[in-house]
Amino acid sequence: MKKAIFPGSFDPITLGHCDIIRRAIPLFDEIVLAIGVNSSKKYMFTLEERIAFLEKTFHDEPKIRVTQYKGLTVDFCKKEHANFILRGLRNPADFEFEKAIAQTNRLISGIDTVFLLTSADTSYISSSIVRDILRNGGDISKLVPKTVQK
Ligand code: ADP
Repeated sequence: MKKAIFPGSFDPITLGHCDIIRRAIPLFDEIVLAIGVNSSKKYMFTLEERIAFLEKTFHDEPKIRVTQYKGLTVDFCKKEHANFILRGLRNPADFEFEKAIAQTNRLISGIDTVFLLTSADTSYISSSIVRDILRNGGDISKLVPKTVQK
């Protein structure tokens, strides 16, 4: 069985994440959307809110499960018996950052990372820009799924 973990903060989930997740569905038997809990990081949305956004967005997709984890992503993959990590790439900065993590993860665990290149129409979307717009009372409706807009 081909099982992937898609780790992230999802603070909040955007149409960029949705694009990667929906395009990965035909590639895997199961995809676990896993929110990494990092107690030293400040989030705009609570863990419960972020989980609810993900669950509502993919409620009709039987291959997708939502959960949270603490610690190393590769340890969580082993616990879940997942053989792949899924990540999205938007630009050269993402590539450089992700390359080091993916190569290290493979070295220490043998788990490979599968990258999907962002679609042209969502490549500029980031959770941090969405948070900035929200803090300043702007309109995020073109950047996030309907489940977050509510
Ligand atoms: P993290 O805090 O781990 O970076 P994020 O929730 O910001 O978590 O991102 C999770 C993954 O989603 C990363 O692989 C990131 O590159 C990818 N991603 C985020 N936005 C987009 C987008 N617009 N297009 C493609 N991939 C994206």
